[in-house]
Amino acid sequence: MRFDFLQSHAWQVSLGRFVILLVTAFLIGLPWHAQLYTLLAATFGYSIWSLVTLYQVQSWLRSRKRRGPLEDRGVWSDISTYVHSRLSGERSRKRRLVGLLRAFREGAAALPDGVLVLTRGRSVLWFNEAAGQLLGLSMPRDRRAHVDAHLPAEAREWIAGDTTEPLREVVSALNDSTRLSFRLIPYAREYMLLVVRDVTPLARLEQVRRDFVANVSHELRTPLTVLHGYLEMLDAESAPQLEPILDDLRSQSRRMTQIVEDLLTLSRLDARQQSPYDRVPMRALLTTLKREADALSQGRHHIVLHRESEMDLSGSADYLHSAFSNLVSNAVRYTPAGGKIEISWRNSDNGEARFAVHDTGVGIPAEHLPRISERFYRVSTSRSRETGGTGLGLSIVKHVLQIHGARLEIESEVGVGSTFSGVFGADRLLAPQSMMEAC
Ligand code: ADP
Repeated sequence: MRFDFLQSHAWQVSLGRFVILLVTAFLIGLPWHAQLYTLLAATFGYSIWSLVTLYQVQSWLRSRKRRGPLEDRGVWSDISTYVHSRLSGERSRKRRLVGLLRAFREGAAALPDGVLVLTRGRSVLWFNEAAGQLLGLSMPRDRRAHVDAHLPAEAREWIAGDTTEPLREVVSALNDSTRLSFRLIPYAREYMLLVVRDVTPLARLEQVRRDFVANVSHELRTPLTVLHGYLEMLDAESAPQLEPILDDLRSQSRRMTQIVEDLLTLSRLDARQQSPYDRVPMRALLTTLKREADALSQGRHHIVLHRESEMDLSGSADYLHSAFSNLVSNAVRYTPAGGKIEISWRNSDNGEARFAVHDTGVGIPAEHLPRISERFYRVSTSRSRETGGTGLGLSIVKHVLQIHGARLEIESEVGVGSTFSGVFGADRLLAPQSMMEAC
């Protein structure tokens, strides 16, 4: 046993007093030879005093009023001083935390975006005023309510599935003209933050932009067709010096017509969230693509088709043809004569299937890859123009893949070649009809 406590002043005083009490009791009993009785009486008195002090300590601890430490109670005073300082520290820490929490809540409440704190089971724990307005929630009625009941149908489906990507531009359940976007952020182990944003003005602007591009393209289409028609009819025989000018005019009008057609295709794609689920027979589509590639290349490249998957696709035949033939035409246009182009359709191990076009062409510098599928983005504008490009091909490819739930993957090395792949999920793959009939 260690006697460190003896170094404490409170213990020294308490033990000193106890010893003085016992010695005094002993001395009082000595003249009458009754030391045992006086010692017993002193010990009894001391026990009573200790019990009373213990009771006072208990009342002090229980008391809700803020009182200073007990005085003149020996070791108990020491203990109460220690407890008092711990409690004061706790209290000021609590006050600081409450202040911080209040500041956070007020900050979140003042956010223009709707913020909801949800449990992992999607019960509402807290939400700010904006969330209340956007989703029609009110306190205390909706505390602990299931959030799904207040979400538009599309958002209900999204929140029950994969929420890694935010959900954009959903029609509000309360107002048809309001567009909302949703983002779900899991935090701690049991909570999630749902952020709801009113994107109506942005959606309106985007719509204005789409309408503008669609209208301009549409309006340009007829005059361009007329111009193109006349240019084709013009014969330079009477004025041979005009031949190069006419050739240039014809090629420029062809380019403009192609740009307008591509813009119209993009406008139509913009208006779609999802493609239809029609059967697209891949055997026929791949054969057509190979034929088109041969026609474009005119024997300048070695073109190979690998059809290793029997699967058909479920989607839009027109859009898929347009996307795949864009990739094939790019491969032909950006591969010098003598190069090799491989068109392949393969199953992946994880149930996906991959349409890929590989070429041994000029390749794309790595810094251009992140932006390559943006509208009118080109690595070399002159090369794109020379080969009849519009700068819209890969945007169309990306959109078409998007509405089919597929993703575009690009691998490229300058001077070595490029591989553009469309990767389709199992939900877009169909066993070929002949196999289904055999079953
Ligand atoms: P473009 O009509 O100019 O070909 P795209 O959108 O189809 O427009 O392609 C965008 C740019 O990506 C092209 O200008 C070109 O620089 C690059 N690119 C596309 N495909 C290939 C490819 N197979 N090899 C090399 N560069 C390519």
